[in-house]
Amino acid sequence: MNEIQKALKKFSQKNLKFLKEALEETKIIREKIKETGEFNQLKIIQAFQECKVTDECFWGSTGYGLDDFGRERLDNLAAKIFKAESALVRFNFVSGTHALNCAFLGILKPNEELLSISGKPYDTLLPLIDNLNTLGIKYKELELNSKGEFDYLKIKEKIDSKTKLIFIQRSCGYSFRRSIKLLEIKKVISFIKKIKNDLIILVDNCYGELVEEKEPIEAGADLCAGSLIKNLGGGIAPGGGYLAGSKDLIHKASFILTAPGLGGKLGATLGINRLLFQGLFYAPLIVTQALQGAVLASYIFENMGLKCIPRWNEHRTDIIQAVKLGSAEKLKTFCKAVQNAGVINSQVIPEAVIQPGYKDPVIMAGGTFIQGSSIEFSADGAMRPPYIAYLQGGILPQIKLGILMILEELEKIK
Ligand SMILES: *Cc1c(COP(=O)(O)O)cnc(C)c1O
Repeated sequence: MNEIQKALKKFSQKNLKFLKEALEETKIIREKIKETGEFNQLKIIQAFQECKVTDECFWGSTGYGLDDFGRERLDNLAAKIFKAESALVRFNFVSGTHALNCAFLGILKPNEELLSISGKPYDTLLPLIDNLNTLGIKYKELELNSKGEFDYLKIKEKIDSKTKLIFIQRSCGYSFRRSIKLLEIKKVISFIKKIKNDLIILVDNCYGELVEEKEPIEAGADLCAGSLIKNLGGGIAPGGGYLAGSKDLIHKASFILTAPGLGGKLGATLGINRLLFQGLFYAPLIVTQALQGAVLASYIFENMGLKCIPRWNEHRTDIIQAVKLGSAEKLKTFCKAVQNAGVINSQVIPEAVIQPGYKDPVIMAGGTFIQGSSIEFSADGAMRPPYIAYLQGGILPQIKLGILMILEELEKIK
């Protein structure tokens, strides 16, 4: 028995064998993920060097935060990584939802229209859209087709003189669909720009950062947004969100984040800059670990007969692994095991509750350092049929442990 086997010996031989088989079968795919991760890691290292990040960037500021060069350099660094003209990386964004709200309110005026072409947006964005409606901003949405692809014909039909902003959600959110590959996003953007060249394309990039070798701006998007307690924070950023895109749009969004006239030039960083820089530095490594674990989980749960999106051997464009469990009890059990595999509050039993921004009760598991962080090992799901667990984040040894714990807990139900 080797040391790893000794550390895991409380688990059944059957499940340990299952995990070993999964590790062998997924080896080639996990190797490919590692290569992409290394490419992204080098991209980030070189961006740090080109932006001349210095230790003075970590000093931080108080009060107005005028001339906070750490904050400015972090924005430049993110712009470089995203191949964008400009970026805002701020803990003053409460979350990804807040960053998206600043983009919506900065761009859209009454009588203009927002069109989602990836179906119903993520739960926490729905109140944002209700608010846009009260401001006289119109909203339309188009479902993806039955194959989970953009519906080109309908997109062409729906775009008219009022359409101003096109919204694309890359990751599945709480719906049981494929996430949308960057290549598909690129194709649809070039199609849309041919219909109407001045349409603004906003990609909700949550969970997608650093998964592929390119990012949405390189696919032709004008703006993208995300959360720092997901991929880009590397598990180290204590909170925040980001926007990257064209100078003009970032400028407009910054007026909503702070105030017209102030924009991104103000905002004290209070000494947390280092955590944002360091999280960004580690992000490719952490994303690689999370992806490798997701592949492993997908292999295992699929071979147990559960429907998984994406399948273990499919191309990935985000870190989410959806597993269809089919009953409230199984979803609760799954989440309990994930919580128990955490490192903080590992003894807690998660319960489904109504949370701000969500319509149905949601159950969230994550024994995480940062509250609600989903780049750390975590699972969540809405308490509604067909009871899907969304598993994400973590480092490989912990994900392996988590999978074994989930297997043993699920066996008790049958
Ligand atoms: C998480 C998420 C959001 C919202 O981000 P928060 O940081 O939780 O506010 C938006 N869209 C998608 C697809 C997400 O996964």
